[in-house]
Amino acid sequence: MSYLYIYYLQVLFLTFIVVNHMWEIYLSSRQLQALHQSSSDVPEEFKPFFTLTEHQRSIHYASSKLKFGQIRLIWNAAVLFYWFPFRGAERLFLALPDWNVHREVCYLLAFGLIQMLLNLPWSLYSTFVLEERFGFNRTTPRIFLLDRLKGLFIGAALIIPLLYGVFFLYQALGSWWWLASFILITIFQFSLVWLYPTYIAPLFNKFSPLEGEELKTEIEKLVSNAGLEASGVFVMDASKRSSHGNAYFTGFRKNKRVVFFDTLLTDLNTKEILAILAHELGHLKLKHIPKSLMTSLILSFIGFWLMGYLSTKPWFYNGHFIRISSPAILLLLFTQAIPLYTFWSTPIGSWISRKREFEADAYAAKETEAKDLIAGLLKLYQQNASPIVTDKLYSIFYHSHPPALERIKRLESTEIKAS
Ligand SMILES: [Zn+2]
Repeated sequence: MSYLYIYYLQVLFLTFIVVNHMWEIYLSSRQLQALHQSSSDVPEEFKPFFTLTEHQRSIHYASSKLKFGQIRLIWNAAVLFYWFPFRGAERLFLALPDWNVHREVCYLLAFGLIQMLLNLPWSLYSTFVLEERFGFNRTTPRIFLLDRLKGLFIGAALIIPLLYGVFFLYQALGSWWWLASFILITIFQFSLVWLYPTYIAPLFNKFSPLEGEELKTEIEKLVSNAGLEASGVFVMDASKRSSHGNAYFTGFRKNKRVVFFDTLLTDLNTKEILAILAHELGHLKLKHIPKSLMTSLILSFIGFWLMGYLSTKPWFYNGHFIRISSPAILLLLFTQAIPLYTFWSTPIGSWISRKREFEADAYAAKETEAKDLIAGLLKLYQQNASPIVTDKLYSIFYHSHPPALERIKRLESTEIKAS
């Protein structure tokens, strides 16, 4: 391929770095404006639930996070410029001694470590300044440090053998390495989803069964309706890090579980807890985890096939400002550069996720009562100081959960149908 094509690809890549980040800054300024416009008054529908002070606090909180995010986006773009057009990624590879496969592994570890250090000031600021200012932070410097160290060791223990595996396949199998690597990564991904709730998450938090006499029989009923075992509902000590509340579902097969943050439980009454539990059970019953695993399986197959195809094309490396080709650089490009092109599919993922939230809400309305879920959700918004207003475009692009008003209106309509 001629030099001209390499040049075109370089221009395209630079355009994506600039345009993507500008687009994200644009979206968040739209969101800032939408928040600002509604700050003088609580939206009509929410007047019975939120005071003006609460509403303004959530807007102030969301705006601070958005402004912080905008500065961070500029920084991220600068870091990408350093790695690629300014050839930082190439220099890092050349700086390492030629140890064959060890060099490949060290390269990605060094890159990961540098990225982690570059992110550190941002997480420090976010936890100890931003969250602190709004009274959410409960993380002590000790917990913060321990979390980072644990993450580093667990990450290394999982990633190093995996990288050696992939690079071994690359050397041993020739043109079919991508298929073998795809299988290896898939097995790894599935075992991680399976291991995470029982072996990894407990290294960071304590999990205890959700209890209470009054709750117990009701929980058992909901849980067995969803085809789950009663031992699968847990409370997590989230309060040791922050006062934000939440609930989530995780795992698959025998390891399925629903997890409540202890912070959420303090504010909800029994009926609301059950409604939110039913929502999470809805995700499990409707097989949302296997469905997303299937999607990521297909996407990762395409990704590995493409990697196999591009691995031997010098223009692909050169087009991203790296004049060396090696399997580690290929992996680096697929994790750092390719996402800039796939970024534009974000709204599709958000749309699927919002659709699943509606489905889980409908399930909860059927199993419990829509009004309890509405009340529970409103408390969740209140507790997290989540803004109840949003810019339409911002929401379409990013939001994994439908905007508060849409969600509540949909639930209210199911309530009317039921009665
Ligand atoms: Zn959900």
